[in-house]
Amino acid sequence: MPTLKCDVVVVGAGPAGSMTARYAAMHGCDTILIEKRQEIGSPVRCGEGLARHFVEDTKLPYDRKWVAQEVKGAKIFSPNGTELTIEESHAGNEVGIVLERDAFDKAVAKEAAKAGAKIMLKTTATAVLKDDGRVRGVRVKQLEEEFNIEAKCVVAADGYESQVGRWAGFRTLLKAGDVTGTLQYRMTNIGKGHDFPNYCEFWLGTIAPAGYIWVFPKDEVTANVGIGISLDRLHNRQDIKGYLERWIAKDPRMEHAQPLDMVTGGVSTCAPIKKTVGNGIALVGDAARMIDPITGGGIGNGMTAGMFLGKILGECKEKDDFSEAALQAYEKAWRAKMEENLYRNWLAKNKLVTLTDKDFDDVVKTLAEVGVTKLSVRAILKVIKDTNPVLVAKFAEFI
Ligand code: FAD
Repeated sequence: MPTLKCDVVVVGAGPAGSMTARYAAMHGCDTILIEKRQEIGSPVRCGEGLARHFVEDTKLPYDRKWVAQEVKGAKIFSPNGTELTIEESHAGNEVGIVLERDAFDKAVAKEAAKAGAKIMLKTTATAVLKDDGRVRGVRVKQLEEEFNIEAKCVVAADGYESQVGRWAGFRTLLKAGDVTGTLQYRMTNIGKGHDFPNYCEFWLGTIAPAGYIWVFPKDEVTANVGIGISLDRLHNRQDIKGYLERWIAKDPRMEHAQPLDMVTGGVSTCAPIKKTVGNGIALVGDAARMIDPITGGGIGNGMTAGMFLGKILGECKEKDDFSEAALQAYEKAWRAKMEENLYRNWLAKNKLVTLTDKDFDDVVKTLAEVGVTKLSVRAILKVIKDTNPVLVAKFAEFI
C-alpha cells in the first residue's frame, strides 16, 4: 500500500482515542483512527464503572445498548464489614453507570466515524516517523502489509502499555509502587445481600494490599468482581488470584456464583507526567497516565482530555501549526481540568497504602456515623479531622 497522508493519525480506538478522533474530525481535521485489534472494544479489560457526567460533558449520545446497570451510588466496606453508603452524585468518577464496555467503545468510535474520521482495524503502529526533531507520522502493519501514515500530528492513545509516546521520547515508565496489578472475574449466579445490584461496592484493607476489591453489578445476578494490588506489595504476580479467590470464598453471596470470564491488566497510579505534547505529537488517556491514582479509573478522564485535544487539533489545523508550542493549548486545558486532583490523589494514595485494617475500620465507622456525603479525599479528611486526630495527622497537608 502506498503512503497514506492525513492531518491527524490517532493510535488506539479506546475511549480516549475515539473521542480525540471524533472532535478532531468535527473541527476540520482529516483524521485516521487506527486500532490493532480486529474489533473495537473487545476483549473488555475493565470494571466498566463510569460517572454519568462524563457522558454529558463529552456530548456522547446516551444509548441503553451500552448500559448494563444504573446504580444508586457506592458502598464502601471496611475490613470488619462496617458499611458506608454514598449517593451517586458524590460517589466519584467510576460510579453511576456500569457499562457494556465493548458496546460503549464502539459507540464512541461510531461518533468518530459520523464526524468523518476514517477507521482502520487490525492496523498496528510499529514505529513513529521522525524528521528534523519532529514526529511526522507512524509506520504501521496491517495484516502482513507494512506502510507509512504521514500526519501533521500523531496522537498516542494506545493505552496503559503505550509505546508510541516512548518511541517519540516521552518518559512514561512507571515505578512498581505506581502500578496496580488487577484481576477480575465476571461472576454470575450471585445471591442477594448488601443491596446488590443497586450499588458499586469497594472493599478495603489487607484483603487487597495497597488496593481494593470491587463488585460492580452488571445485572440482578452478575457483577464484575475484581481486585487491584500495588505491584510493590506482591512477591509474585500470581498471588493476586489467591487474594481475590479467598475473598470470593468468604462472601456468602458468592456461594453458588460462577465465572463467565477472567481478565488481568495493569493500571498506572502515578503522579501526572511532566509533558504530554511535542512537535507533531500528543499523548492522551492511559498513554498520558491520566488514570486516577486512588480508584484506578481512567475512562472519564481519557474521554474528557480526548475532547480537549480534538478541539485544539482543529485550531492547529486552522493555523497550519501542529508544533509543540501550538499543542501547549491542550497541555494547559487538560491540566487545568484534572491535574490538581490527580496530583492530590497520588499523594493521598501514598498515605492510604500505609493504613492498617484498624485504621480503615475507624475511618469508615466515623464516616458512616457522621454521614459523609461526598467521596473526595478532602471531604473525607475534613469529616474525620475532629473525631480521629491521630489518624488524620498523617494527612494534615491535604486538609
Ligand atoms: P484503552 O482503552 O486501553 O485503549 C487503547 C487502545 O489502543 C486499545 O484498543 C489497544 O488495542 C490500542 N492499541 C495499543 N497499541 C496499539 C498500537 N501499537 N497500534 C494500534 N492500536 C493500539 N476505568 C474506569 O474508568 N472505570 C473502571 O471501572 C475501570 N476498571 C478497570 C478494571 C481493570 C481490570 C483495568 C485493567 C482497568 C480499569 N479501568 C477502569 C481503566 C480503564 O480501562 C482505562 O483507563 C481506559 O480503558 C483508558 O482508555 P484509553 O482509551 O486511554 O486506553
